[in-house]
Formats: sequence, structure tokens, C-alpha cells
Amino acid sequence: MHAPVTIRPISERGSLANAIVDTLVHRIGKDEQAARPHDWLAATILTVRNEIIERWMESTKAAHAAGAKRVYYLSLEFLIGRLLRDTLSNLQKTGEIAAALAELGVDLAEIEEIEPDAALGNGGLGRLAACFMESLATLDLPAYGYGIRYVNGMFRQRIDDGWQVELPETWLAHGNPWEFERRESAYFVGFGGEVTGNENGQVHWKPAEAVEAVAYDTPVVGWRGRRVNTLRLWSARAFDPIKLDKFNAGDHVGALAAQTRAETLVRVLYPADSNAAGQELRLRQEYFFSSASIQDIVRRHVQYFGDIRTLPDKAAIQLNDTHPAVSVAELMRLLLDHHDLGFDEAWEITKATFGYTNHTLLPEALESWPLPLFERLLPRHMQLVYAINAKLLKEARRREGIDDRAIAAISLIDEAGERRVRMANLAFAGAHSVNGVAALHTDLMKQTVFADLHRLYPDRINNKTNGITPRRWFHECNPGLCALVRDGIGEAFMDDAQALSALAPLAEDAGFRDRFAAVKRANKVALAQHLREAMGVRLDPDAIFDVQIKRIHEYKRQLLNLIETVVLYDQIRNHPERDWTPRVKLFAGKAASSYHNAKLVIKLANDVARRVNADPAIGGLLKVAFVPNYNVSLAEKMVPAADLSEQISTAGMEASGTGNMKFALNGALTIGTLDGANVEIRDHVGDENIVIFGLTAEEVAAKRAGGYVPREAIERSRDLAQALDAIASGVFSPDDPDRYKGLVQGLYDHDWFMVAADFDAYAAAQRQVDGRWADRAGWGRSAILNTANVGWFSSDRTIADYAREIWGVM
Ligand SMILES: *Cc1c(COP(=O)(O)O)cnc(C)c1O
Repeated sequence: MHAPVTIRPISERGSLANAIVDTLVHRIGKDEQAARPHDWLAATILTVRNEIIERWMESTKAAHAAGAKRVYYLSLEFLIGRLLRDTLSNLQKTGEIAAALAELGVDLAEIEEIEPDAALGNGGLGRLAACFMESLATLDLPAYGYGIRYVNGMFRQRIDDGWQVELPETWLAHGNPWEFERRESAYFVGFGGEVTGNENGQVHWKPAEAVEAVAYDTPVVGWRGRRVNTLRLWSARAFDPIKLDKFNAGDHVGALAAQTRAETLVRVLYPADSNAAGQELRLRQEYFFSSASIQDIVRRHVQYFGDIRTLPDKAAIQLNDTHPAVSVAELMRLLLDHHDLGFDEAWEITKATFGYTNHTLLPEALESWPLPLFERLLPRHMQLVYAINAKLLKEARRREGIDDRAIAAISLIDEAGERRVRMANLAFAGAHSVNGVAALHTDLMKQTVFADLHRLYPDRINNKTNGITPRRWFHECNPGLCALVRDGIGEAFMDDAQALSALAPLAEDAGFRDRFAAVKRANKVALAQHLREAMGVRLDPDAIFDVQIKRIHEYKRQLLNLIETVVLYDQIRNHPERDWTPRVKLFAGKAASSYHNAKLVIKLANDVARRVNADPAIGGLLKVAFVPNYNVSLAEKMVPAADLSEQISTAGMEASGTGNMKFALNGALTIGTLDGANVEIRDHVGDENIVIFGLTAEEVAAKRAGGYVPREAIERSRDLAQALDAIASGVFSPDDPDRYKGLVQGLYDHDWFMVAADFDAYAAAQRQVDGRWADRAGWGRSAILNTANVGWFSSDRTIADYAREIWGVM
């Protein structure tokens, strides 16, 4: 904040301003003069939280009184980002709070910017969980999100000399005024030890160690404050925080060992995108939060409804990928060992309660745990997995046409090589619904990983195409466009994103197109200014802003984009006289810390940027920037400023994508493959308003099966071969000419992600983009039609589909 500030005397302030000051004094312990920006932020959040609490308790009471069925969304990740702007906007109190703060000499926008991002997720899967929580509250559905309160969450990315450096994210450094610690909601979670049985068949698991899971609740406010739900995140503590005997005997570190071990559980999220982190700690984390959540759900059910047998009528538990799949065995354990149900009845209750969402078909990302590890950590669950498996395989063997190969694929235990527990099979077997996240992905699930389980249970797999919340990804991140749309078609879209379709006729209105373009340009100017301040790069807001922001992964093919950038750079250098379309290529994304090639791609983006941006021969026609530390808040700045959305994954590999939806909603055209939800985006916006290129999923599979020779593809494309030569020979890395030799050699040797096979089609598609851009009216029409036609990708629609077809709550 800029001193000196003008603070109005108390008598001239409104009651809200005085309430904020009151909170500042009594909760933060500072007065107006001593308060620093973080103190104002905390005081504002606590004041806003006060407004929510009563609605929150009302929401809970009403659900209780109605005996309503509740939805439980279990996810190892919740990528929620900042909450202040979102909460104020959903409460429609932004103006009021801004005015109150202004009376105190505080700028709301400035304190919003210092709120840390709650980065409790890697990427799309975690962001989906956050959008779902907001839509559940918006649709007035009683729901709880369950996850882990990571102290450091996802790492913070710094770029040093072009390389990614991982730093701990310290989002809790100033405390977290949103949350309530619920000391009374604590559960015992055990690990290891042994299982004994008595003559009555009663089983007793005596864990060797245990921690206590403690709940932290964050309110989630739906649109128009209609309902407030709870995001319950678990922290861990030792039962005995300090062993006094050890401490007094001089072993000060040993005395605190149990507490340290407990804290380790909730320290960080493994930044594994699609290479399963094999760490024992990750399995511990998964069991820790699954067990606490299932215990909490069962406790609540018995408290409210008495009879555990009615659980499926009153609770729908959705497993967000396989990370919480051990919940299936945990619920079985509670039903058998604590509630004394018989196995078959317990199994029916379990299946009727769980739904499972699959997020990936990549074999390396399908979680499985070495059997000895699973057995050592969770001996009782191991027994239950065997018992479930016996039942499953017995059922399968009775079915015609299920041979030994199919039995081996269905089994919960992978017997090939080192024996492993397959979490996807456990989740599939233990759920009444198994859904994919886009139509193509769901089809591929049936054909590939779950082909045999699908034959056994043909009604179980269904599709629920992902969505995004239009509040955060349109109203809040793009207020200019939102105001223009309101001017054009009224307010109906604010409650129903599909009402955006009324915009379509305005695509023909030249005046509206100009205003639409002016909003986009203003967003680009704002982003350019932010990037100039943040990283010293100068961008021309009249260039095409071509944006690829997402986790760095070979299947997402940032490398394809970078090679095309190198080709374009070379062409502009050689023919500066031609009529080039000015372009800004923006990249952002984190690479998993152990993923060598992904980190090399970040370095390449920075090496290419350094060379291109400094070359006077191209007259500024091409600019490249890699923006550090991609997170929700950065996405909120970049998405509204994009003209072109890069969704160029190898077909068949991106389950859905949600970044693609955010860009289209904000009026960017997509350049993309027929992958994930791109297919459905094309269906909605129409062929003329999207640029599709490249191999289809079927063609990719056929090529892989039929001996694809990447060298031939490279040699057929002069541009590609030259660009690869340049990269491999050190044109962009004169300080270390061999830096990219291995990366390029990988393309010659196997090119698993078909970069070479798709290169020419991609480059041609980019030149088609240039042509469309030159036709300003045509581009404007397409941009408006993107916004108009993607309301279907609202997470409100997705959640309504889950609610009706999986959870039975609508
Ligand atoms: C939307 C979003 C994602 C997912 O992006 P994809 O392009 O679908 O991979 C990842 N991270 C953040 C911060 C997001 O906002």
C-alpha cells in the first residue's frame, strides 16, 4: 500500500468499514496505523467469513432436517487458488467491501493480489475438484470435499538461467484466515502391525503406529451465496507430541520424532502428474486421508440416521481418480470389523456408495502398489483385497467368454513380475459407477485399460465430460467481457452459462465485434504490462497472443509448439520482407521434479526465447516468453488475454483437458488435435471456429502398432529436419551445444508422442491461423461464437449430470 493513506475518522465511516477495523483490532491485534497489507487482508477475510458462517450453519441444518443425501468428493488434490475475490463475487459483496476498504485507505484489488494461492494440487485433476466444489454449492447440493491440508502443497517454480528450480510453497506463512480447525473432529489412523482373529471370527487389527487426523474446514460459497458447503482438509499430529521421558533423558530430537513423522504425512503433494510416485509416503498419505474421511462419513451417518445399512441412501462418495481408492477397503473394514456386517452385505453397501472417476489411460500413471509394501503398511486391508478379489474372480469365471487372459486383467493383483495391487481395478470393482471425463476418453477406457472389466460389468462405465466454473473463469477473471456480454444479451447467462448462446447473432454485428475485440485488447495490454513488470519482457498487444499453459509433459507436446516456433523464427529471418503476422508465444507450466525431459523443455523454451527476443533481424515480429510459476492466479490473468489456445496433445492421451474450456469461454480460438474434450468443443463451436489438425486417436494407435518410423517422417519434412538440426547442434544453447542432443535423438529413435508425425499438419494449421487473423471480421466472429457456444462446458452442467446419473441427489 502506498503511504500516506487517508483513513476517514470513525464517525465518517460506514458500519462495514468499522467492522473491518474492529476485526483488525480484536482478531489481528493491530490498529489502522500499524496494519500492514497482510493484516488488512486477514481482517477483510475474517469479516467476510463472518458473513458466511450463518449461512454455512443454515445449509448444514437444512440438510440435516431434510434428511438429505450428501455428496462426498474425495480428492488428493484441491487446486483452489485464491478465495477472496471468488467469495466476494459469489456473495455479490465486491462493491460493498471495496467501498468500505476505500474508506480505510485500502485498495481491495491490491490486497486480493497478496492472498496466497492455495496450491494444493498439480493441475487439471485438482482444479476440477475445486470447480466441482463451487458448482455443488451453486446447485444447492449438500456436499463435503475431503483432502489433505498440505503445509507446503505444490512447489513454487522459479526460473534460474532458464532452468526450473523448485522452492517450497509457503502458503500458510501468514496463517489461513479462511479455515476453522476442528480439534473435536479427530480420528485415529493406524499403519502396520498385525491382524489377529478370535474363535468367533472377530478380526482385530493392532497397528504398530498411529497418527491423529485433525479436520480443518474451509467454507465454499456457491453463486449468489445460495449455499455454503465444507471443504474438509486433514492435518496430522502425533498422539503424544513429546515423549517427556526421552526429552528429560537428553534425547531432545528423539522425543519429538513421532510428531515429526506425523507432520511428514501432510508436508507436500507429490508433484507427479502421470508418473506414479512410488514412494511409500504417498501410499501413507492416501490411506491417511481416505481413512479419516471414511471414518468421518460413517460417524456422521450413524449419528444422523442410526443404521449403517442405509449408508448408500444417504451418502454418495466419489473417488477422484485412484488416489483415494483404498477407501473401498477401508469402508469394508469398518463395516465388517466395527459394525459386524457380513461380507456380502458389506460389499453391496460399499458398491452402492462409491463412484469412481478415471482420469488417465497412461499405463505409467495407473497406480499400483508393490504387494509387500501394501501388506506391511495395511495388513487388514490386504486381507480384504484378497477377499474382494476372490469374489470378483469367482463372478468373472462364471461368465462365458472370460478366459485366463481376461481373468489376469480383471484381477486386483497384477501377477506379472513383481506382484502389485492395482488400485484402478479395486476402485472399479468397488463402485457402482465408473466414469471417464470426456466422450473420447470414456470410449477409450472401454477399449483399453478396462476392456475386460467392462465386459464383465457393461453398465458400469459412463461418461461425464468435465467442466469449469464460469464464475471464476469468466465473471471474475474477465470482468470487461462479462460486462459487455451483459450489455449485449442481459443477465441470464450469469445463472445459466448455456444462455450465452444468445450471443451468437451478435457475431454478425460489426459494432459488437469491435467492442469484443477492444475488451480482448485491453486484457492483452494488462497482461503485457504485468509480464513487463514481472519478467521484463515487452510484448506487442496487437500481435496474436498464442498461449500454451499447462503442466509440462511430453504428451502435451510443448516441444511441438517450440519446434514450430524455431521454424517460424528461421522463416522470418530469411524473408523479413514478407507479410508476417506478429506473434507472441507464451508458455507456462511446471515440470514434475524428477521428469528430466519436461525440465529440458522448459530450458529449451527459455533458450529459444532468449535468442529470438534478442534478434533484431526479425523486427519484433515474434516474441517468446516462458512465464514462471504457473498456478490458478496466473491462469486467471493469461486466459482472458489469449487469442489462440494451444491444445495439441497426442490424440488419445489427454483425458479431457479443462484449460481448453477456459480459453474458448474467454473468446480464444483453439488450435488442437481431436483429443479429450477438444472433440466436443469442436462439436459445440463448429468446424469453422476451431483449427483442428493432426492424427486421430485411432490413427495414432494404428501407427504405433504398425511400425512407425519417425526418421522417415522427419526426413520428409525439410523444415522439421532443419529445426531439429539447429536445436541439436546448439544454435539455441551455444554455452552447451550438446544440451538438446538427447531430446532430439529421442524423436529420431521412438517419438512415442508423434511430434514428427504431426509436425507438418501443425505448421500448416498455424499458417491457417495467420490467414484467419488477417480477416479481422472473420476472427472476431469466430471468437464470439466460441464464447457463445461453450456454456455447456460449465461445471454446473457436469455436476448436474453426476447428481442425476451417479449420486441420485437431483
Ligand atoms: C485449468 C488448469 C489446469 C488444467 O489445464 P489443462 O490445459 O487442461 O491441462 C492446470 N493448472 C491450472 C492452474 C489450471 O487453472
